[in-house]
Amino acid sequence: MVQLPKLNELGFFEIRLESIGGLGANLAGKMLAEAGVEGAGLNGVSFSSYGSEKKGSPVKAHIRFCDLKTPIRDTSPVERPHIVGIFQEALAKTVNVISGIYEDSTVLVNSRKTPAELKEQLKLLGGTIAVIDATGIALEEKNRVNMAMLGAMFRLCPFLDPQIMKDVIRKSLEKKYPQSVAPALATFERGYQEVTIESFSLPAGMSMPAFTRADTPVLGYETQPIGGIVTNPGNSILKDLSISRSGMMPHFNIDTCIHCAQCDNVCPDNCFVWKELPDKKGRLQMFLQGIDYQYCKGCLKCIHACPTDALSGEREEDGYAEANRVPHLFDLALQ
Ligand code: SF4
Ligand code: SF4
Repeated sequence: MVQLPKLNELGFFEIRLESIGGLGANLAGKMLAEAGVEGAGLNGVSFSSYGSEKKGSPVKAHIRFCDLKTPIRDTSPVERPHIVGIFQEALAKTVNVISGIYEDSTVLVNSRKTPAELKEQLKLLGGTIAVIDATGIALEEKNRVNMAMLGAMFRLCPFLDPQIMKDVIRKSLEKKYPQSVAPALATFERGYQEVTIESFSLPAGMSMPAFTRADTPVLGYETQPIGGIVTNPGNSILKDLSISRSGMMPHFNIDTCIHCAQCDNVCPDNCFVWKELPDKKGRLQMFLQGIDYQYCKGCLKCIHACPTDALSGEREEDGYAEANRVPHLFDLALQ
């Protein structure tokens, strides 16, 4: 029987996937657990937790492994993961994605940054950071982010056999989507091969912050969340949809825009910013100024509606949205 590399006090090796709806973290968690149970002969469990089941909303998947003699009676969320898989780098803006990690935990991030840059960004004192450009691989292979993340996850879990996973992928896709088998296998393999892993020692004299359950309080009459209150309303000007983008975003080229408003008609989040200006004959007309990326979830409906090439779907670059945002009302960051 395979040996798990680390165990917590209950005898579990635990993994938490931090993602947004639509990237397939729930399915990835189930496939990971299946490979551990059927392929490696472990006990295992996988389940997800999410708020609204909306594409782009934060979701978590939880996976537990243990040996066959250890019963799994704990189905609470994974609070102290040995591995965290972050499917959407921008999630760290609003979610404590590294909550509860140990000094020797591994943090896997879907990103194009280096492990050292991510260490700074995530404010990690030390530990192991693994990076895979899962979005880039998925776009190139015309497949899904979760397959590339799964490939990388298998490199981090040497007790799991990647060949078993390939058989699971083939078995689950070949009947309904036979054309997807080859791209899914290629995406998985690239995730496995291309992940970069780097370990950082804790600075001398420093230790990991003590784990507190601040994110998941023990509920009582004094600590339970107040019911019936929407704390992050979708119709507020404060709403920030940037974490809902899963890799692609629209770019606007004003030189080829004919100001026809087709984009505005299809945009579900009212991202297009207009201004009334005189046309060549001096008559007042509405002219498109740009996109307020704070509210853009990257659905790309506007690209398909645009009759010219004024809008194009591009891979999101770090800082592009902030630099090119045209604020709807005013720039909240300047208030
Ligand atoms: S659909 Fe294209 S051309 Fe029309 S207003 Fe929007 S960006 Fe401009
Ligand atoms: S991608 Fe286009 S249609 Fe979709 S939210 Fe962003 S601006 Fe609106």
